[in-house]
Order: sequence, then C-alpha cells, then structure tokens
Amino acid sequence: MKKKIGIVWLRDDFRSSNNLALAKASKSHDEVVALYLFKEKKFFSQEAQQWWVYKSLKNFRKKLIFFNINLQIVKVESYKNFFDKISSKNDFSIYWNKVYEPNYLKFDNYLSNKLRDKEIHFQIFKGNILNEINEVKKNDGTPFKVFTPFWRNAERHYLDKGPIVDKKITKCLKKITYFKDEISEEKILPKKKWVLKFEKYWEPTEETAIKELNKFIKEKIENYSTHRNYPNIQGTSKLSPFIKHGQIHVEKIWIECSKYNKKGTNKYLAEIGWREFSHTLINHFPHMIANNYSKKFDNFPWEKNSKFLKAWKSGMTGYPIVDAGMRELYATGWMHNRVRMIVGSFLVKHLLIDWREGEKYFRNCLLDYSEANNVSGWQWVAGSGADAAPYFRIFNPILQGEKFDKEGHYVKKWVPELKKLPKKFIHKPWESNEQNFKLGKDYPFPIVKHEEARAKALNAFKKI
Ligand SMILES: Cc1cc2nc3c(=O)[nH]c(=O)nc-3n(C[C@H](O)[C@H](O)[C@H](O)COP(=O)(O)OP(=O)(O)OC[C@H]3O[C@@H](n4cnc5c(N)ncnc54)[C@H](O)[C@@H]3O)c2cc1C
Repeated sequence: MKKKIGIVWLRDDFRSSNNLALAKASKSHDEVVALYLFKEKKFFSQEAQQWWVYKSLKNFRKKLIFFNINLQIVKVESYKNFFDKISSKNDFSIYWNKVYEPNYLKFDNYLSNKLRDKEIHFQIFKGNILNEINEVKKNDGTPFKVFTPFWRNAERHYLDKGPIVDKKITKCLKKITYFKDEISEEKILPKKKWVLKFEKYWEPTEETAIKELNKFIKEKIENYSTHRNYPNIQGTSKLSPFIKHGQIHVEKIWIECSKYNKKGTNKYLAEIGWREFSHTLINHFPHMIANNYSKKFDNFPWEKNSKFLKAWKSGMTGYPIVDAGMRELYATGWMHNRVRMIVGSFLVKHLLIDWREGEKYFRNCLLDYSEANNVSGWQWVAGSGADAAPYFRIFNPILQGEKFDKEGHYVKKWVPELKKLPKKFIHKPWESNEQNFKLGKDYPFPIVKHEEARAKALNAFKKI
C-alpha cells in the first residue's frame, strides 16, 4: 500500500482538520496529491462562489505545502470524462469526502463502479454533516418533512453515535506533481470583476473560520437567540461561507459549542440543524431543486416583470430594508438571514415573481451559496417548501424595518442616500417632507404599494 500515490479529490473540504480523506491518504501513502477539478459549467451563474473557491485554493495550497502535499488544479469538461480517461496503471489510490447534493452522490456511485472495474483502490468518507442523510428517519422508515421532530431525532442520533475522531494529516515524505495539465487558481475567477471587492470583508481560510467560531462562542452566543434578528448587530456567526466550502466541519462547531454550553447554544445548534434538514430534504425530494416541493404551487400565477426584477436586484425598490439587503449582498456576498427572508418575501409576494428567479440571483451572489440551503430557504419563503412559512404570511417591509432596524442604522449603511432622513421616516421615505430630500430623485418611489400588493398576493394564493 505504502508504495502507491494517494490522490485526494477535493471538493467542498478546504480544511486540514476533520478531513477524513486527507487524513487517510496521508497516513497510507508517502506521496499525496490533492486534486481540484475545475469544471467551468459548474460555476455557471455562481460568480461569488468562484471568488471564494479561488481564494480557498490559494490559501489551502500554502497550508498543504507544510505537509508536503501538492495541490493541483486540473480543468475538466466533466468529472465523468476525466475519470473515464484516468489511467489504470494502478499506481495510485483515490480518496474523497462526500458532498451531500444529489448529483454528487449519484456521481459517487458511478465513480465507485468505474474504479472497481478498473481495479483502482478508492475510499469515500463522511463529508461536512453531523448525520448521514439516511441515518435519521421516522419510525416507518420515511424521511421527516417537519423540522422540529427531525431535529429532535437527529440530535439524539448524533449524541448516541458520538463525533468522528478527528484524525490529523500526516506529513508526507516528499511533495510530488502527478497531473501534467494543471492550471493556476487565477483561472477560476469569473470574467466580471465585481467579486474582487469581497477581499475587503472575507479571508477564506480554516484559521479564520476557527478564530471566528471561538470569538462567536466567547462574545456572542449568549445573546444569539435575540441578537440574531437584528441586521445592524453582528449577532450571528457569519460562518456560512466557511461551512459551505468546508473550511470548518460542523462537528467542530458542535463540539466547541457544547464544550461551553452557554445560553444560546441550543438555538445556535438548531440553525446547524436547519442545514442538516435542508440537506436531507433535497436528497429525499430532489425534484425540489428546480421545482416546487409542494405540487400545488405548480399552478401559481407568477408574473414576469423584468423592470421589477431589475429594481429588486439592484436595490432600487423604494423599500429601504429591501434595498439595503440587496445592496449588502452585492457588496459583500452575504446577507443577514432576517433580511434574506424580507427580500425573498418581497420578491415572491409583493412582486409575484417566481421564487426561482430569486434563487438564481442569490446563487450568483452568495458566497455561502448552497444548493440545499438556498432552495430550501426560497421555498420556505414562498410557502411552497416542506415546513414552510404559510402563504398568507406576507412580511410587511415597513414594519419589519421598524422592528428590526429601529434606528435605521442598517438602512443608512447600505442606502446612504437616506442618511439625511429623520428616524421616523427611514423605513417610509415617501411620508417625509424634508426640504433636502426629493423622492423620485434622491431615492425611488416604491415600485408597488404595500397594501395593494398584499391584497393581490393573497388573491393569487387563494387560486391554488
Ligand atoms: C431565501 C433564503 C436563501 C438562503 N440561502 C442560503 C444559502 O444559499 N446558503 C446558506 O448557507 N444559507 C442560506 N440561507 C440560510 C441563512 O440565511 C444563512 O445560513 C445565514 O444567514 C448565514 O449566516 P450565519 O453564518 O451568520 O448564520 P448563523 O445564524 O450564525 O447560523 C449558523 C449556521 O447555521 C446554518 N443556518 C443558519 N440558518 C439557516 C437556515 N435558515 N437554513 C439552513 N441553514 C441555516 C448556516 O450554515 C449558518 O452558517 C438562506 C435563507 C433564506 C431565507
């Protein structure tokens, strides 16, 4: 075994700890190569992701050098093509961690068979999740469709089983190059350069993820249950892009949080639970990735309105909390969860635009874009998902703003043209008669009237 080379196929696991594939390969082989396959098509409409992956590769490469492991990036048309052509010289073994998306898991099956046929040794490991997808089911063997019983069972199952032992990477004997046609990580960046500004806000490394987690536990978790609702307070962990790309394993989060077990821990871990739930859902009900989970929404009379969609995307709807959220997203690649719910509700309920348009735009802009969380989040907002918000729950963007951004600090940060308005008008600038503020010139008129839009939405929802 020791004579062969170990190849680790890296996907969403840019970490050295809790990385079972890397740990196993480096223990079993003197020479290991970490392989990243760049499939351009995968990143279609995912420009923010391209930036995060580019940075992650750059940073992780430096880290792996310490272990004498070379990170090689190879551009491929498809994973299938690449692995079909891979030689069967049998001078290597392949290792990888699972990614819990139906296409990846399906491909794992295909690849396993292929490698078996070619008599190439391989091993697949648990990825970034607490429980495997099929481990938590109802007594009758069917998947949970409601979060609370799911999480009760998932937590119990996880505790009974205990965490995986964090096996460390072993330093390899020497650093080698195995693949000839490698590309540099710069090739992964998208053509449009808007993503480069994320540099100011994020450092995609494992060390940053761990530092942020510790800081969050030390300073914020106690107030998480309440502070998580206020977009102007940094009351959440902001770990989502690190979790998505595997800079940190959710087991590490679980262990660290449980160690201190402060007030707020259960609430925080329940959010990790929502992530587990959405990954379970998309794997048991893969139709929901592109279609309504609930079929009755198939007849919903969505409207096509490119003018409204453009105003929403560019943060020019005339509703300050909505516009602040959309501008935060474009500027930083992240948006606060409460605001995601508000802007989502506004798109599907006030503008009657299909949730898939919002899902697609988020997919392009979010650094934490995750197939499972994004689709579930959007279907939750639209009311078409499992355990979703009922359709008649239409967020009022004015009241949401007044409740969760009382002083208007969040709005003023992202919509600076409203800075001159007194607090009482910050969420309804159309009521202001300030001399130095002109609606329609300084800031747009609301594109729809809240009460009218609400009535129209309720009417449309009644039809299904
Ligand atoms: C319309 C919509 C789209 C969304 N799209 C995504 C997405 O593409 N990727 C993504 O990671 N999250 C998505 N979310 C969920 C949530 O908004 C983000 O996970 C959260 O805002 C990330 O910030 P945080 O790390 O500070 O969260 P924290 O509050 O600190 O939570 C910790 C972790 O728990 C998980 N989590 C938190 N809330 C949720 C949730 N509602 N559903 C699933 N997991 C959750 C995330 O991994 C998060 O990092 C979406 C929500 C909505 C309403």
